[in-house]
Amino acid sequence: MFIDPLYLLLFIGTMALSIFASWRVKGAYARYSQVPASSGMSGAQIAQRILDLNGIHDVSVRSTQGLLSDHYDPSSKTLVLCEENYHGTNVAALGVAAHEAGHAIQHQQLYAPLQWRMAAVGITTIVGNIIPFVGMGLLYIAPKIAIPVLALCFGVVMIFQLITLPVEFDATARAKHILAHTGAIAPGAETTAMSKVLDAAALTYVAAFISALGTFLYYVMHMLGGRNNEE
Ligand SMILES: [Zn+2]
Repeated sequence: MFIDPLYLLLFIGTMALSIFASWRVKGAYARYSQVPASSGMSGAQIAQRILDLNGIHDVSVRSTQGLLSDHYDPSSKTLVLCEENYHGTNVAALGVAAHEAGHAIQHQQLYAPLQWRMAAVGITTIVGNIIPFVGMGLLYIAPKIAIPVLALCFGVVMIFQLITLPVEFDATARAKHILAHTGAIAPGAETTAMSKVLDAAALTYVAAFISALGTFLYYVMHMLGGRNNEE
């Protein structure tokens, strides 16, 4: 089986980027979850406080197992924090909780990129299920059909990751602003530590976008016939 060296390079490059981004976020979290917040508030308390301050009364805050599985689910209006962040009174827990509350505020305010992202979830999930079949099977049986399909699929994934960027950066900007104004995080060392956790988390989304963009461009280039002579 022939493996395109450019594909191998792309695969290794995107893999390395993703491992680096996740290593950074885990490192920042491990380090700064040891820094207590002088306000003494827990992640769950700050999340509830932010929702209250914004007049959001239909979002429930609950805990789940699985470290850093924190998210906001717009369909069920649930703000989910991992147990460590739900109960944690450290700057990392407060940062993550405020970030997720930022998504709830985006939802309430009908923040456009969040609306686009919600609209794109269905098609992106379908595409994610199609890609392995096309990439593993059809690509070897009928490459002339598979390559345009893969270009289209990775185009959808790339657009989804692109839309995710403003959603995530905006939630983090809101979190930093709110934490400073509510006094949940003290200025100085606490704020710097909290920012490092949220900035490292944002980098994982940039890495995901770069990977999707690289893969999309790879298949577009193939489709345009630049490397067809290798078949
Ligand atoms: Zn987020």
